[in-house]
Amino acid sequence: MALSFVYTEEQLALQTMLRKFVENEIIPVRAHYDESEEFPFPVLQKMQELGLNCLVAPEKYNGVYYDSVTQCIIAEELCRGCTGIALGVLTNCLASEPVVIAGNEEQQDWWFTRACHEGKFQSFCVTEPGAGSNVAGITTTAKKDGDYYVLNGTKCFITNGGVASQFTVLATLDRSMGPAAMAFFIVDSDLEGISIGKKELKMGIKASNTVEVIFDNVRVHKKWLLGHEGTGFKIAMKTFDASRPLVGAIAVGLAQGAYEYARDYARQRIAFGKPIASYQAIQFMLADMLMKIEAARLLVQKSCWLFDNNMPSTQAASLAKCFGADICMEVTTNAVQILGGYGYSREYPVEKMMRDAKILQIFEGTAQIQRMVIAGNLLRE
Ligand SMILES: Cc1cc2nc3c(=O)[nH]c(=O)nc-3n(C[C@H](O)[C@H](O)[C@H](O)COP(=O)(O)OP(=O)(O)OC[C@H]3O[C@@H](n4cnc5c(N)ncnc54)[C@H](O)[C@@H]3O)c2cc1C
Repeated sequence: MALSFVYTEEQLALQTMLRKFVENEIIPVRAHYDESEEFPFPVLQKMQELGLNCLVAPEKYNGVYYDSVTQCIIAEELCRGCTGIALGVLTNCLASEPVVIAGNEEQQDWWFTRACHEGKFQSFCVTEPGAGSNVAGITTTAKKDGDYYVLNGTKCFITNGGVASQFTVLATLDRSMGPAAMAFFIVDSDLEGISIGKKELKMGIKASNTVEVIFDNVRVHKKWLLGHEGTGFKIAMKTFDASRPLVGAIAVGLAQGAYEYARDYARQRIAFGKPIASYQAIQFMLADMLMKIEAARLLVQKSCWLFDNNMPSTQAASLAKCFGADICMEVTTNAVQILGGYGYSREYPVEKMMRDAKILQIFEGTAQIQRMVIAGNLLRE
């Protein structure tokens, strides 16, 4: 496919539709969900009606195929409104990716029918209290017992965990063998032995549900093993190739929302008898914001383009995720600065945007882990 900087007509129509949706359905309620920390079921239901519940689902389930570039356009637009709310559906992409990568027909039928036609939420269960950055250090076990695997362990910081009907879960068949003994499973949240632990009280993305998920002798039939025994770690890493550009797009959308708010505010706020936008100090902050957002968007689109064209994209995905998250933190912090005291007040949205931005430097591989991936790749070149 030729390289293009122009969106297709379908992508532009989708973008216009989502911009209206965000203005009408997300922006008016984002402060409420941030304050109340309720899960935004009514807003997410409207997104489901638009076919956005599981963007990575194959066309036969979703009725439409979104390539990675288009998924990122959608993520950007939704997060321009509210990252916390949008994560309700965008997390379904992360959780579903192992099923896209390694699921057989029966597994995909079960998973995506529920995701696309029944409005079910999904969670990706990898992190544990003792293993976050170091995925290879997980200790949740899967012990074979006849036709079943018996899962035992605790997963923490699981997005959507308290509302999800289905999980993808990484476990080890033998703790002494590291990544070589890992396996990914599809797990129905109704199975006996699954319980939800504490709900995290967070700095930002408060509309997003983050909980512990505990597996206590949970019997999972062998037909729900994704791929083969021993492929779990590889599936997790492939999942990140697909999901990290999406986090980059989330960062671009959130930063874009903060930039636009600060720009419009600067035009009308009077200090020393003139709009603050007339002062070069403010203009330069706005110019830097725009420059960095544009650069981050290009990195996201490049990594998506490589992924969509089946080309190696691990390095590009980390560049997009890491740069996007870093500039999002900077842009949202400077948006607060441009609003001055009002930026620090909860009456204005930019303080929430700054709190929401921080998570993007932490989940799906911290800023340090991304740099380790990038450095590892560049030294191998
Ligand atoms: C709101 C939220 C939602 C999340 N959602 C999910 C989810 O849905 N599913 C899921 O599985 N997980 C989820 N996570 C977990 C998230 O992916 C981890 O928190 C993250 O990977 C970091 O792991 P950790 O918290 O254990 O930090 P640690 O791994 O303990 O890292 C602590 C610090 O040390 C640094 N560090 C660690 N190792 C190195 C190293 N080798 N070199 C240099 N620096 C290093 C890190 O960069 C970080 O700054 C979520 C987390 C949060 C907060």
